[in-house]
Amino acid sequence: MVWFRKPKYTIVTPQAKRAKIPDGLWIRCNDCGELIFKKEWENNLKVCPKCNYHFQLRAKERLEITVDEGTFEEDNKSLAPIDFLKFIDKKPYKERIIENQEKAQLNDAVITGCGYIEKIKTAIAVLDFNFMGGSMGSVMGEKITRLIEKATDLKIPLLIVSSSGGARMQEGIISLFQMSKTVAALELHNKAKLLFISLLTHPTTGGVTASFASIGDIIIAEAKTLIGFAGPRVIEQTIKEKLPYKFQQSEFLLEHGLIDMVVNRKNVKNVLGRFLHFFC
Ligand SMILES: [Zn+2]
Repeated sequence: MVWFRKPKYTIVTPQAKRAKIPDGLWIRCNDCGELIFKKEWENNLKVCPKCNYHFQLRAKERLEITVDEGTFEEDNKSLAPIDFLKFIDKKPYKERIIENQEKAQLNDAVITGCGYIEKIKTAIAVLDFNFMGGSMGSVMGEKITRLIEKATDLKIPLLIVSSSGGARMQEGIISLFQMSKTVAALELHNKAKLLFISLLTHPTTGGVTASFASIGDIIIAEAKTLIGFAGPRVIEQTIKEKLPYKFQQSEFLLEHGLIDMVVNRKNVKNVLGRFLHFFC
C-alpha cells in the first residue's frame, strides 16, 4: 500500500549537519562560542563579528596590518636563546626552544625592526604569543633593548606590541633582569623627548606588564584584552576576596585609568598614525 512506502525526504539531524561542515571552513569563537565562517573572520582581521572578541595574531600578521607595505626591515633576526641553566621542567628547555622555533618559524618570541606607519618611520617590536607564550627571556630583552637604543639614536618614535605570559622561567633570574634592562633603555628614549606607544593585545601579563608594556607615553589596548600581572585565580586566593566581573579586561582598566584607550583592531593603524603625526 502507498502509505507504507518510505518517505522521499530525509531528516537532517544536527549531528549530520555538523558532519557536513568541511574542515577548516568554520571556527568557533573563544568568547561567545558561536560558529564563524572562516573567510569572514579573516576578512574581519580575526575579530569575532558577533561579539567583537579579538583573537591572537601572529607577530608577522600584526606587522602586515600595522606597517606600511614593504617598509619593514627586521633587525637581529638571528639572535636565538640558549639553555645556559640546563633547565629541565616537563622537558629540557633545549628541546622546547627547538620545538617552538619550528612551530612559530621564529628564533625567539619577538620580532624587532624599523618600518613606516602612515608614512612615519617608527621602531617596532611585536611579541608573538605562539612562541612559548610570548615569554620574555634574555633574547627578547636584548632585542627590545637594542631596538629602543636604535630609536633613541635615530630620534624616532617607538611602538611595542605586547602579548605575553610574562618572564621566561626557564631562564631564571636572567629573564627578570630584562625588565630593568628594557625600562632603563626606555628612560633614555624618554629623556630624548621621543614618543613611545605601548599597544597591549590579548593577553598581556606578568613581567611584560610589570615593565615596558605599562610605561608607554600612550597605552592603547585592543578590545576585550586580558591585562594583568598575576591571573585572577591567584589574586582571589591571595586576598581571599571575589574579584569584580571582567576585572582584568581592557574596558575595566580604561575605566580605572590604567590605560588610555581601547581600540578595535580595524582602527588600530589609523589611531597609531594619528598619534605619530601629532607628536612627531
Ligand atoms: Zn564571539
